[in-house]
Amino acid sequence: MSKAILIVGASRGLGLGLVAEHLKRGFDVVATVRKPADETELKALPGAERLTVLQADVTSDDDIARLAAKVPGLLDVVFVNAGVIGPKSVVDASPAELDKAFHTNVFGPIRLAHALIGKMRDKTGVLALMSSRMGSIGEQSSGHSAVYRSTKAAQNSLARSLWLTEAKDRGVTVLSIHPGWVKTDMGGQNADIDIETSVSGIADQLAANIGADAHRFIDYRGKDIAW
Ligand code: NAP
Repeated sequence: MSKAILIVGASRGLGLGLVAEHLKRGFDVVATVRKPADETELKALPGAERLTVLQADVTSDDDIARLAAKVPGLLDVVFVNAGVIGPKSVVDASPAELDKAFHTNVFGPIRLAHALIGKMRDKTGVLALMSSRMGSIGEQSSGHSAVYRSTKAAQNSLARSLWLTEAKDRGVTVLSIHPGWVKTDMGGQNADIDIETSVSGIADQLAANIGADAHRFIDYRGKDIAW
């Protein structure tokens, strides 16, 4: 029987790459986009006969509830990839811009994860959230992108709470993943690695951490990152 993965935020960049990689690996894939018009590239991927595209904005509770109701069967992996870079400065940004960055990168992904975790397989399930090395407080040596860094640090903390309250006793692993510095709209063309290198490493890590009985903060090669 094929394994099933849900990938949230799959219109472009790493999300689209994760869909392509898991179709290649034989998974049944449910992918979400914000706008139905963004289905075209997904539907053209090799293996798309195993792909279902649904609509979801992670900042909408209605979308999250609709998505949870539509997910077919039990999921082996839930991957919340959606994210934004947000405003540059915590001082110059408006309160609305700060709220949007936190809703998109922190509260939306975590509320979605809470809504979907009941649809995951016990013992072998893996819930992954796209974090960033920039969310590491221990490794931080620059003050730039302060708002973005703080969203990923907060997401990591809520992922730990989620693991402790809803995943650990069921044997569901939680991963906060740094994809590398990747050539996407967000990462820019000067980034270190291409999308294929990142998503293939991430897919290997999703498989390697089945049954890990942990919440880990790792990069796409499986290297632990300081909290
Ligand atoms: P990207 O090319 O800008 O793609 C971002 C994705 O998130 C798009 O699919 C976008 O959908 C979706 N998204 C944004 N807001 C959303 C919302 N409210 N609801 C649902 N989906 C939403 O960025 P990327 O580089 O692929 O980044 C993907 C993830 O990796 C992000 O969480 C990012 O923080 C993280 N990351 C990236 C890098 C890097 O070097 N690229 C490094 C570390 C971490 P639309 O097309 O509808 O906007």
